[in-house]
Amino acid sequence: MSKWQIPASGGNMEAANGIYFQNMTNLEVAERLKKNDILLLPVGSSENHGPSAPYGEDTFLDTRLCEQVAKATGCTVAQPIWYGSHPYHHLGQKGTIMIPEEVLADYLVYVFAGFWNTGFRKIIIVNGHGQDYVIPFAIHKFGKKFQVPAIILYTHFWNCAKEELDTKENGGPYETPFIHADEVEQSWSLALFPELCKQEYAVKTSAAPLIPAGHINNSAERGAGPIKWYNALGSCGMECICQPEGVIGDASKADASKAVPGIEKTLDYLEKLVNDILTAYPAGQLPPIDKMTQRKREDIEAVIKGPNEPGGRHIYTLTY
Ligand SMILES: [Zn+2]
Repeated sequence: MSKWQIPASGGNMEAANGIYFQNMTNLEVAERLKKNDILLLPVGSSENHGPSAPYGEDTFLDTRLCEQVAKATGCTVAQPIWYGSHPYHHLGQKGTIMIPEEVLADYLVYVFAGFWNTGFRKIIIVNGHGQDYVIPFAIHKFGKKFQVPAIILYTHFWNCAKEELDTKENGGPYETPFIHADEVEQSWSLALFPELCKQEYAVKTSAAPLIPAGHINNSAERGAGPIKWYNALGSCGMECICQPEGVIGDASKADASKAVPGIEKTLDYLEKLVNDILTAYPAGQLPPIDKMTQRKREDIEAVIKGPNEPGGRHIYTLTY
């Protein structure tokens, strides 16, 4: 029996309980920053997930995980990024809201900057959607543009859970490999937000590969081939043509119990990550200036003090 609550109960996005940044006052945030200055930033999507799961699935996967990590560690969760970037084969799918990757990357850069200026300078991105090719781009764009000490790390439950997302033949709990809105993703949804799922309407569809098997790694990146799914064009058919149902796989095989080991492993990892960062850099402390930037030391010290302190400045005095 682990300490985590699965199925998770309710959401906290409008709860006055100190989990989410948007629900706190500036006095409450100032107190929080004295103790814990780590921010979890859920980055999701609004995407067709078929008749048995909500459009916001990828965002809710993040927020429900982040909420439990915040309760366990005392860190803060940012309001999620609801709209994401999508690969070519998602183009045209109804209910899938596609933001251009350059726009999302820039948007994230300025979200990072705003939180940095507020005092949250250690940001853990928790992504629940297939936009792995955009988030690193945003992190490095922020780094190069602002050149300030910070910690920004990108995590995905796909990479945290690992073998707990595998098929039975590889030692995991699932009958079918993880692709999209299928046995795996629907099982996680049933465990994290059962009240938004309609399992009685679950459907099964087929994948639409356009090249022979054994080359393209699927969503969980568990070793089907050396080419990650997002490093390919022409490897599969377009969803709006081949799977207009919004599912690739068999959502009817989903069961919340199959997701429990992966969710526990992901929550254990995220808790450890928060605690390890806070141990290395307690609240208010950052990686050393002289190892992270060659900007003028007085400028960096001023923006670290922040806009409201004597001798301090806002981050945008460096650039915007
Ligand atoms: Zn999804």
